[in-house]
Amino acid sequence: MPNKLVSIVVSAYNEQDNVTELYKQLNIVAKDCKNVEFEYIFVDDGSNDKTYNNCLKLQKDDARVKIVQLKRNFGHEIAMTAGMDYAKGDAVIFMDADLQHPPHYIPRLIKAWQNGKEIVLTKRMDNAETSKTYKFCAKTFYYILNLLSDMPIMESAPDFRLLDRKYVDFLKSFNEQDRLFRGLLSWIMPQDNVEIIPFEAPERFSGTSKYNFIKSLRLAINSFVQFSVVPLRLATILGIIAAVLALLMGVYVFFEHFFMHNPTPGYATIMVTVVFLGAVQLICLGIIGEYIGKIHIEVKKRPLYVADFIEKKAGKNEPENHI
Ligand code: UDP
Ligand code: MG
Repeated sequence: MPNKLVSIVVSAYNEQDNVTELYKQLNIVAKDCKNVEFEYIFVDDGSNDKTYNNCLKLQKDDARVKIVQLKRNFGHEIAMTAGMDYAKGDAVIFMDADLQHPPHYIPRLIKAWQNGKEIVLTKRMDNAETSKTYKFCAKTFYYILNLLSDMPIMESAPDFRLLDRKYVDFLKSFNEQDRLFRGLLSWIMPQDNVEIIPFEAPERFSGTSKYNFIKSLRLAINSFVQFSVVPLRLATILGIIAAVLALLMGVYVFFEHFFMHNPTPGYATIMVTVVFLGAVQLICLGIIGEYIGKIHIEVKKRPLYVADFIEKKAGKNEPENHI
C-alpha cells in the first residue's frame, strides 16, 4: 500500500527565526513516523519580516515545503483556512510557527489517526508559569461561552490538531467569513473517533505573541457572537429587569410620598434612573450592532483571502494566483 500523505499547516506572521527552527524539528520528527509522507505548508500571513524569504530558502532544498503567501495580514484563522485549502494530505495537522506546539507530539497525533481516530485534538495543560489571573480569565471565558453557546466548546484546546481528510473537506464547505476553528470543529465533532492528547506548551522559541489585549478581546467577542444568539435576548431580559426595578421604585416613592409624608428628593433618583436606562440601551444597541456588523460582512460573500501558492515543481517555482 502506498504511504499516506500528511500535510502540516503552519500559520506564520512575522516568525522569521521560528520557521527555520520549526522546519528543522519537523524533519527530525518526520523520521519517527512510519508509513507516511509529509508536505509542509507554511502560510505567510502578510509578514513584514523575512518569514517568506526564509520559507523560500527552505523550499529550495526540499520540495515538500510549500508556501501560501497571503497578500496582507488576514489573521490566524484565515491563515489556517488558506493552508487547509491547499493541503492535499489524507490528514492535516495544524500548528503554530512559534514552537509552542511541540513537534515531538506529531508522531502521537499520527499514531492515533493510524489507529482509526478521525480527529485528534490536543489539550494545553497549565504549567507552573501559567498565572492565576490567566487561568481565572480563561475559565470564566469558557464558562460563559459554554453557557451561551448551543454546543459545548472545549476549554484549553489550542489550534494544534490533526484532522482526517473527511473532516477537512467538511470544514472547507463552511464559507463563513468570520471563522473560529474551535467553534466550527465543535459543530462537526463526532461523538466518537476523537482522541485528545494533553501537552505542555513551552515559551515561544523567538519573537513575541501576536495577540495583544485588543486582539484577544476581539476574538472573545467574535466567539460569543458567532456561536450564540443568546446575547440578543439579553436586551429583552435587561428590559424586563429594568421594568421590574422601575415598578418597585415607583411603589416605594408612592408610599413614601403619601403614607410617610417624606417626598423623595427628585434630582438624584432621576439622574440615576436616566443614566442606568441610557447605559442599558447603549449596551443593547452595541450587542445588536455586533450582529448586524457580522451580517453586513457575511452578505458581501467576498473571497476569504488573496494568496499566491508557491510550490516547487520539476525544479522551478510556479506561483499561481488564488482568488
Ligand atoms: N498568527 C498568524 N496571523 C496573525 C496572528 C498570528 O498567522 O495575524 C500566527 C502566529 O505567527 C503563530 C500563531 O498564529 O504561529 C499563534 O499566534 P501567537 O503565538 O502570537 O499566539 P499565542 O500563542 O500568544 O496565543
Ligand atoms: Mg504562540
